[in-house]
Amino acid sequence: MIEAHAYACQCGAVSVALRGRLIVRAVCYCDDCQAASQRVAELLDGTAIAGPDGGTDYVLWRKDRLTVDGADKLWRFKLRDGSITNRAIAGCCGTPMFIDFDGGPHWVSLLADRFASAPGPVDLAINVRFAPNPDAVPAPKHDKVPLSMIAKLIGARIAMTFGR
Ligand SMILES: [Zn+2]
Ligand SMILES: [Zn+2]
Repeated sequence: MIEAHAYACQCGAVSVALRGRLIVRAVCYCDDCQAASQRVAELLDGTAIAGPDGGTDYVLWRKDRLTVDGADKLWRFKLRDGSITNRAIAGCCGTPMFIDFDGGPHWVSLLADRFASAPGPVDLAINVRFAPNPDAVPAPKHDKVPLSMIAKLIGARIAMTFGR
């Protein structure tokens, strides 16, 4: 099934064309996501990536099924020197856009609130042990990354390998 999704920065100079469908939608409460959100908010005058409860609502998408238009305007923030994880910010208007990686992982973590319309319901919450208030996080929630989510990521990798 082919679905069309609109995904762009606030001013529209950077957009992401998406093909196919998401791998999984997961809200992450890990300490790195929270720390990066806070640092980015300091750099961008308060534009945080995480929500008020500390969770960042990610939509994971195969990186061979998306194309970034205006990629030259992206600025990549690393929480630590040498980390493979990048928080990509649209430099034109200071909009957090997505997380991608230097090599390694085969997906891009898009931000659910940048979609013009929701790409599907939240599948699960992960790394909830770091949430400021874990009891308030809606189920299904997991202290770490559960095998069910890892299986979806591996499944996407296998499908990529076979060109599907
Ligand atoms: Zn922009
Ligand atoms: Zn995280």
